[in-house]
Amino acid sequence: MNDAHPHYQALLLQLHTLDDLHKSAAVLYWDRETCMPVQGNAGRTQQLTTLNQLAHEMVTSTRMEDLLAAAEQEQASAAPDSDAACLLRHVRRQFEEERRFPAEFVRWRSEVTGAAGAAWADARERNDFAAFQPHLERTVEIAQLSAEVLGYTADKYDALLNQYERGMKTAAVREIFATVKRESVPLIQAISERLSTIDDGILYQDFAIDAQRAFCRHAAESVGYDFSRGHLAEVQHPFSTSFGIDDVRITTRYQPDFATSALFATLHECGHALYEQGIAPALARTPLAQGTSSGIHESQSRLFENQVGRSLGYWQRHFATLQAHFPAQFGGVSVTQFHRAINKVQPSLIRVEADELTYNMHIILRFELEQALVSGDLVVRDLPQAWRDGMQDLLGITPPDDAQGVLQDVHWSQAAFGYFPTYTLGNLYAAMFMDSAQRQDAGIAEELARGDVTRLLAWLRQHIHQHGSRFDAPELCRRATGQPLTAEPFLRYVRAKFGALYDLDV
Ligand code: ZN
Repeated sequence: MNDAHPHYQALLLQLHTLDDLHKSAAVLYWDRETCMPVQGNAGRTQQLTTLNQLAHEMVTSTRMEDLLAAAEQEQASAAPDSDAACLLRHVRRQFEEERRFPAEFVRWRSEVTGAAGAAWADARERNDFAAFQPHLERTVEIAQLSAEVLGYTADKYDALLNQYERGMKTAAVREIFATVKRESVPLIQAISERLSTIDDGILYQDFAIDAQRAFCRHAAESVGYDFSRGHLAEVQHPFSTSFGIDDVRITTRYQPDFATSALFATLHECGHALYEQGIAPALARTPLAQGTSSGIHESQSRLFENQVGRSLGYWQRHFATLQAHFPAQFGGVSVTQFHRAINKVQPSLIRVEADELTYNMHIILRFELEQALVSGDLVVRDLPQAWRDGMQDLLGITPPDDAQGVLQDVHWSQAAFGYFPTYTLGNLYAAMFMDSAQRQDAGIAEELARGDVTRLLAWLRQHIHQHGSRFDAPELCRRATGQPLTAEPFLRYVRAKFGALYDLDV
């Protein structure tokens, strides 16, 4: 990136302005979730709609098209994996997709999802699916229209999945999820027959929120989250967000009677934030300065939440600190007892509270229902019953009400169809990265056994984080692990871990 490329430089300036618009919207979103009064929602929806519209106008302007075309010509001989070539490819694809959506549609989508978000929160609170139904019908319509606008060859769902996991095909996900389901269901059943093997009662006690806050901060620092470039806030639904490489924020939710909920939410969001904090500064304020896909993003959060955060090695290092924060609750508990408790497997109703093994069943259910909604095989009115049937089929339990069933997740109110499968893809990628990291550097396993993530984080920085969106997920995965996405490392990991914890012959 130098003076020899004036058109490319001019494009970069425009992309920086565009990035400022996106990051300003992120700040407004953060504020809405962390401290905005309820009555502020209508005004905030208007502000976000305006910012989104300005960004859309910029992307679809002839000025941007001219700058992009000139920059492409100027950089025609750039090496294919140079920053410039990666950026131009990314921008060309992104802009062409975005240009297909008329401004009117963008405004309508923003208004519908703004209202649907508020309606969903209210409907869930009151356990009233009927009140949410008309909103959900509109967001399904958004998804169906979006798929038509974006285009697809095999599956309509491909177009939606591609928004979050570029390069991934519905058929491939179906096949890999079928393997996960086939291998997980008997394992879950075998564990269900011996649920009493692990007692997690110690996790459900009174835990002072101040002590929880202090320990969550310790946990975030323990995995390398940089507080000089971050902030930990409290919200109803934990998330992380980036306003730039040097300001990446995380959130958590404290429950007074269940301390590990906030703890693992914190470690989860730390994984997302470490990714964003680790992007190469050369990519700052460009569309490459973000995680490359939702699945790769989730691999980082899952890796720190589960593979690190629920490992015995991690707790051998940090359990004494946890005991110091909660002497009455954990003073008489052994680290092994605690490690077993935080790894209890039990079919349950709520996705975000599910263990590592049953979690993917929650995702497979949503993946199947989404495809049916988008194709029109399932109408919104019949969704609550389809949900109950699916839970019974996959996990052997039925939610007593819709609040603990079909109304539990925010995603569909935001028309984010195609997003759910990326959670399980994240679990699979996380296991692949862990596997490759430890094969490539034997010192990583040694450190992890002592609860030290330094070398692991260095490996992730080098192979995943620094690249931002330079490569699509399949390419990044191939470069980091030498192979395409596979469920095998994940299945080996859960068989070994839960086989040992539950004394199973697997
Ligand atoms: Zn996540």
